[in-house]
Amino acid sequence: MNRFSLEGRRALVTGANAGIGQAIAVGLARAGARVTCAGRRGCDETRALIGAGADEMRLDFADPMAATGVFDGAGYDVLVNNAGIIRRADAVEFTEADWDDVIDVNLKALFFTCQAFAKAALADGRAAKIINIASLLSFQGGIRVPSYTASKHGVAGLTKLMANEWAARRVNVNAIAPGYIETANTEALRADEDRNAAILERIPAGRWGQPEDIADTAVFLAAPASDYLHGAVINVDGGWLAR
Ligand code: NAP
Repeated sequence: MNRFSLEGRRALVTGANAGIGQAIAVGLARAGARVTCAGRRGCDETRALIGAGADEMRLDFADPMAATGVFDGAGYDVLVNNAGIIRRADAVEFTEADWDDVIDVNLKALFFTCQAFAKAALADGRAAKIINIASLLSFQGGIRVPSYTASKHGVAGLTKLMANEWAARRVNVNAIAPGYIETANTEALRADEDRNAAILERIPAGRWGQPEDIADTAVFLAAPASDYLHGAVINVDGGWLAR
């Protein structure tokens, strides 16, 4: 048996229409999984990259409870919570709306989507894998992103809590903390010559991460190869946090 194969598995990836979520959806499909691309809008590009067999689901976490019931009886083995947003403003100016919007999508929706997924897997007595997308700001403070930092610290904590509760019932919960990854999300940072140079100077690997770097780790966390991994937050950051 190839313990890195996802043959016969069903996976759902949130925010699969772009960036890291798109790469993860494609990576899981290439490893053999049947993938549902979930998004608040269509995932046509991702489905085209995967080719035949990719499914689609509309999930908009403006309602953090949006995933309630969607896993019941559906036979999913893998959930990737990738959808996320960020708002930037000085802490003294930060608005309640920028707090609530980010916490709702990044933390509350993530928890209740995990809950909905685990309820279905536990009810079936099925082994399953949850992969949460954390951040360097699960470990560091950052600047001008208070709700993002709070949400991503929360993701790391909840990953461990859920792992503690569900590990004995064969549900693995782990997280990936991406470093600086080339997506639309980070375009402005890369366009700023000084910021870009400062970031690159601190990354031991000397380059930005690619979405595929995260996808490869997600394949491992979805596969039988990681069956004894529970509550881990894996940094995929070119060595950033090692500095
Ligand atoms: P991105 O291209 O902006 O992707 C974010 C995804 O989340 C998009 O698919 C987006 O959908 C979706 N999303 C946002 N709000 C949503 C909602 N209300 N309901 C459903 N889906 C929603 O950014 P990315 O860089 O790929 O980020 C993906 C994840 O990685 C996020 O959790 C982010 O915090 C994390 N991350 C990224 C980096 C990095 O360097 N890029 C570093 C650390 C962590 P729309 O396209 O419709 O907006």
